[in-house]
Amino acid sequence: MSEERIINIISNRNYESRKTKKNLIYKLRKNGFEPSETYSDKAELNICIGGDGAFLRAIHRNAFPEIPFVGINTGHLGFFQELLPNEIDSFIRRYKAQDYQVEKIYMVDATVCTKKKCFYLTGINEIVIKGVRSKVVHLEVFINDNHLQRFSGDGLIVSTPSGSTAYNFSAGGSIVYPSLESLQITPLAPINSSAYRSLPNSAIIPGDAIIQIKPELRYENSILVLNDGMEFKYDSIVSIDLTMSDKKIYKLNFSKDMYWNNLKSKFL
Ligand code: NAD
Repeated sequence: MSEERIINIISNRNYESRKTKKNLIYKLRKNGFEPSETYSDKAELNICIGGDGAFLRAIHRNAFPEIPFVGINTGHLGFFQELLPNEIDSFIRRYKAQDYQVEKIYMVDATVCTKKKCFYLTGINEIVIKGVRSKVVHLEVFINDNHLQRFSGDGLIVSTPSGSTAYNFSAGGSIVYPSLESLQITPLAPINSSAYRSLPNSAIIPGDAIIQIKPELRYENSILVLNDGMEFKYDSIVSIDLTMSDKKIYKLNFSKDMYWNNLKSKFL
């Protein structure tokens, strides 16, 4: 008896996504696959329909699975979403012929320790440390226990290579090719005056380094942590340690030039 080839279909509820989903399910069945609208961990592939937000949510909601992803873009930018709805036939043909590469997506882990306990977060794009109610934050920043700076400003973004084209890019950070094992610290509106000195530009940190951020004592209750756009508030934060995650996400890539074409078509 031949094994079922299950493919998970994860879609947002937009009209275009629902239409694409229907067409995709029909064509996958015709090609001998078993599309599943409820997440199965026996699947060989996850297909996500929507924009970048749908892609990020699909990964968070399914606890960072090792089953590779491919995205069909029905949103605006679609940086993670490789395919267009009218490319389903060629996608199925190339998938069956195994004519693709599997790309790794590096993520960032944060350990947020309060006076009582530690909390663990994993981000695909970035983890941001900001002030609540738009207050200025004062943060001590260490790299591998070496004091780097006392930052004052709106906050700091710690971005992954794949996330470098997201919030990091809008804040003036550099674009980092996804396969470069690194994290980037990017300041949000750093204050530079006779009272405060903060690095005005981003710094790219090797992937094995530990970034430690400690809010100044009187700001321990005014910190907001954002994980891929989702807000978390903790009381009495003592420190936040950020490292490249051991977990990885896998994504199908159908063209080695896709990254550069994407950059040009989406940003220029
Ligand atoms: P959203 O719908 O508000 O998306 C924000 C924008 O970020 C969208 O245009 C999306 O296509 C784009 N985006 C997301 N990931 C990207 C990536 N890796 N490369 C290039 N563009 C990317 O919110 P959402 O869809 O829930 O996404 C959350 C993300 O939004 C966060 O991870 C953060 O990176 C981004 N964000 C950006 C800004 C900014 O640019 N000023 C501010 C807040 C959040």
